[in-house]
Amino acid sequence: MEAQEGFFPIYWDAQAGKIWLEIPRFDENFLYVSSLPSGLGSNDVGLDRGQLGTERVVHFERVGPKVLMIEPNLDYRATSDNPQEREAVRDAFAPGVVYGFEVAAEGDDGSVLVDATDFVVRDAHGVVRRLKQTGQGSFTLSAERSAPYLPNLKAFPQNTEMEARLTFTTEATPGEHVRDTASDPYHVTLRVRHSLVHLPDTSGYTPRRMDPRSGYFGTTYRDYAVPIGQEIPQRLINRHRLTCAGPRDDDGLCEPEEPIVYYLDPGTPEPVRSALLDGARWWNEAFEAAGFRNAYEVKMLPDDADPMDVRYNVIQWVHRRTRGWSYGASVTDPRTGEILKGHVTLGSLRVRQDYLLAEGLLAPYQGEHADGVPPDDDPMLQMALARIRQLSAHEVGHTLGLAHNFAASVNNRASVMDYPAPLVTLAGDSVSIDRAYDTGIGEWDKLAIRYGYAEPADGQSEAELLDDVVQAVQEAGLWYITDRDARPAGAAHPKANLWENGDDMVQALEREMDVRRIALDRFDARTIRTGEPMAMTEEALVPLYLRHRYQVQATTKLVGGVTYNYALRGDEEAMHPERVDAARQEAALEALLATVTPEALAVPEVVREHLPPRPPGYPSNRELFPGRTGLTFDAYAPAEVAASMVLNGIVHPERAMRLVGQHDADASLPSLRSVLTTVTDRVWKADVPSDAYRAELQRSVQQVWTDVLLQRTGHTDVAPAVQARMTQHLRRLSNWLASNAGADAETQAHRGHMRDAIERFLQRSQEADAPPAELDTPPGSPIGSGPAWHVRQQQREAWLDGWTRAPLRCLHRE
Ligand SMILES: [Zn+2]
Repeated sequence: MEAQEGFFPIYWDAQAGKIWLEIPRFDENFLYVSSLPSGLGSNDVGLDRGQLGTERVVHFERVGPKVLMIEPNLDYRATSDNPQEREAVRDAFAPGVVYGFEVAAEGDDGSVLVDATDFVVRDAHGVVRRLKQTGQGSFTLSAERSAPYLPNLKAFPQNTEMEARLTFTTEATPGEHVRDTASDPYHVTLRVRHSLVHLPDTSGYTPRRMDPRSGYFGTTYRDYAVPIGQEIPQRLINRHRLTCAGPRDDDGLCEPEEPIVYYLDPGTPEPVRSALLDGARWWNEAFEAAGFRNAYEVKMLPDDADPMDVRYNVIQWVHRRTRGWSYGASVTDPRTGEILKGHVTLGSLRVRQDYLLAEGLLAPYQGEHADGVPPDDDPMLQMALARIRQLSAHEVGHTLGLAHNFAASVNNRASVMDYPAPLVTLAGDSVSIDRAYDTGIGEWDKLAIRYGYAEPADGQSEAELLDDVVQAVQEAGLWYITDRDARPAGAAHPKANLWENGDDMVQALEREMDVRRIALDRFDARTIRTGEPMAMTEEALVPLYLRHRYQVQATTKLVGGVTYNYALRGDEEAMHPERVDAARQEAALEALLATVTPEALAVPEVVREHLPPRPPGYPSNRELFPGRTGLTFDAYAPAEVAASMVLNGIVHPERAMRLVGQHDADASLPSLRSVLTTVTDRVWKADVPSDAYRAELQRSVQQVWTDVLLQRTGHTDVAPAVQARMTQHLRRLSNWLASNAGADAETQAHRGHMRDAIERFLQRSQEADAPPAELDTPPGSPIGSGPAWHVRQQQREAWLDGWTRAPLRCLHRE
């Protein structure tokens, strides 16, 4: 057999096709990580090249002829000196057995040999589950089409790597994403890696406490040994190990024991390669500000190194069929929160998407550049490269431990951990993208790295250091608000937004609408190169027409908005949640309604007149507008899409109920009733445009608004107080339509149709009207058994006995 010495020695038996694993020691924890070195190429399915799978702390335990790979349950612990106390917690929460091996041979020293072939050649990455979840069909692992992947059967002193080429097959027709990407969609082959990795000694690493204001991802476990009255959950930040090797120099900086080194995928071509290296290197400034010299480096990955090797922090350039997200993933030691490997996945199509945005804005292909030969300093390429420098820094930031800061743009782009929108500046009636994206990390980033990595000064405790950093953030007036407060459609915080610019969301939306109007007014075939199908202008039109979409979301958060921070008791900056004042709310509503006028929504005439259907070889796809005119361009659908986005946002169920509550608490603030009235006045009661296209657009928006009201009012997620006000509003609208039937035939048809829809809704039968969903009562009694459980049990039995619904309801009321 071919032997490889290493962390766990491995042997390859070519004749039998078997991998034998030597286990020299038992009951010693190590890290087991699965990953996907080769991908499917579909971001919808999400089985991307370089994807990390599960990471587990495990150990081998021998039981007679068996060896079990056991994953202890580290989420529940007792940090106590009393072994029985530790055992009581350990045995209270289920551990896992990851795999069972059979002992094939054993040495005098107690080491054993096991057949690891089936362990390696199995679906450890959950590929079957993923394909099913994403609607791609029921695949099974085909044993005869799967085998160990010998080039990546490697043993090193600190880690042993084993890999298999797995083929997943299906009889039924596979889903479209598999059909679009796999060379044979019925037999899909991927490679799955198993890494057994030495765990670092925890004694050389000091876990650092997590503070909600710190901006870090965390590792949380529950410690049942803490004194009564103290919090059981223990929160640690995730970060790399970084310590000073010696005393600080005159500048107050120290050299590190070991620098943090990131490696870039050598499969990255220029000019992207240099841009990614540049962006990733920005972080060095933060480590210097945190007191380290030469503590952070970015290099090219050596040709003989393996990007999946857990010893390397890697930035990978990953190709997929369509554009998708980029990721900053990490292998983290669950015991301490120490990041052992940062693994950045950058989607290669992002840079091309930014180029497309710039093409739509600049309409650059004219005169001598009509065939698409860009000038040397191609401003579109400069913008796209500026974007991926920023993206490289952003994703590396995640793998340094940092979470998103979606409030950085209101602090003058204080963090690369925000989602940036390309800032377009206006000079008269021309647009400039010179300052589209920022360069370098921001003030917030520097302070965040200080929180995670700085060492306390002489005579300073770590707690004092961390408090100092938090105070410095507050003194600089920097906001930190992350995903959960920024992403939901009903979110309340007006400072926490994705893909937006500026600190005044009303002005920013107005500016985006100006930029959009200027670019739309001159939009034509100059957005594509000579020789490209005319239909391809739609690719550039879509992001330009919807350019305001994220600024709309940001501005909507002012309506019924609430500003708050993550301050702790005792903070000088601690604030009570503050409602956005009436003037701002009203200005936001005005700015939003200005985006749904027929003038704002009109598709340029040149598009309506000149855009042909797609030619053969250029099929339609989801990046284009939907429509109801078959193969020809639907000039009304874009307006419907844009209006629906705005109007749905304004009366999102959570926002609508906040409006009710805010007005109850402070009568000067807009009420839901006043907001509904304002929208209806603007949408329904404006003058009918004389131009027939714009008049139809106006009717389209009226239809969208009425549909939004009908859907919301009938939806069970909506609070009864909101439903009551919306029902009343619909009744008034119906009455208005009855007495304002319209002057021309088109208007009369439309208004009659809409009034009929409202009346049908208001007079719908009781059965059609599902009652609002009940709010769950938080449990009072201990959870899981006791009376509540008995009631459920009785109900189930009653149901089985064929009782009618009435006694069930009685039971429920008890
Ligand atoms: Zn991110």
